[in-house]
Amino acid sequence: MKYIGAHVSASGGVENAPLNAAKIGANAFALFTKNQRQWVAKPLTDESIAAFKANCAEQGFEPQQILPHDSYLINLGHPEAEKLEKSRAAFLDEMKRCEQLGLDRLNFHPGSHLKQVSESECLATIAESINWALDRTEGVIAVIENTAGQGSNLGFRFEHLAEIIDQVDDKSRVGVCIDTCHGFAAGYDLLTAESCAAVFAELERVVGFTYLKGMHLNDSKKGLGSRVDRHHSLGQGVLGLEVFKYIMTDDRFNDIPMVLETIDEHIWDEEIKLLRSYAAKEENG
Ligand SMILES: [Zn+2]
Ligand SMILES: [Zn+2]
Repeated sequence: MKYIGAHVSASGGVENAPLNAAKIGANAFALFTKNQRQWVAKPLTDESIAAFKANCAEQGFEPQQILPHDSYLINLGHPEAEKLEKSRAAFLDEMKRCEQLGLDRLNFHPGSHLKQVSESECLATIAESINWALDRTEGVIAVIENTAGQGSNLGFRFEHLAEIIDQVDDKSRVGVCIDTCHGFAAGYDLLTAESCAAVFAELERVVGFTYLKGMHLNDSKKGLGSRVDRHHSLGQGVLGLEVFKYIMTDDRFNDIPMVLETIDEHIWDEEIKLLRSYAAKEENG
């Protein structure tokens, strides 16, 4: 089954996210469980948690169809001790929120070395941060997103993801999310069916599809290898539609949340319909 949706608004409370997802015909969604631009948030109330669970059940959303995203402020590879501690505490809070909501995965950007430490030192710190958070939570998978490699952000090579996973103690609770815009901007050619086949073969070889816990489906405003993260609506950027046809007709992308983070929320319903039309062709043989 292909689970397709968008990163929907949770304004007014997390319980609104499944309702917003249902409105656009989604059978998957992403959300922030707190304001993504602030360090501290009020705890989720019992009412909000209960309403979230009830709305998910009513709209038919299971945990494997939902991909919460953490705050942009968090840097689990921060080279300075005090700031690393702050990031870890905030990440733990995000993991605990997922736990409370009955969710089984949390999507995050690995971290940045800020030109103060080497790539491998930073990747080791990120893995340590994940181990630390997994020790203090239960049942939530830490899902590392590939990045465009802007500034000193790591995670733009599949090898970075593998190097982190390698140092995580509990392999059953670590995974990856591949963002098509980020991958393309990082230099992975996703323009044709043939190049997609090569890129995803590389993902299988370097990381392994067993770790794939979600996808972000975005076109890109910037070119191949630009290392600039600018999302665009499907088919309106330089990436084009082939990669989305490829993903929708490949079984390795079944049963994981695949969400749009495209720039025009007014056409998310149409984008979801387009993706479903590609998937339907495959299902009809
Ligand atoms: Zn992200
Ligand atoms: Zn993304």
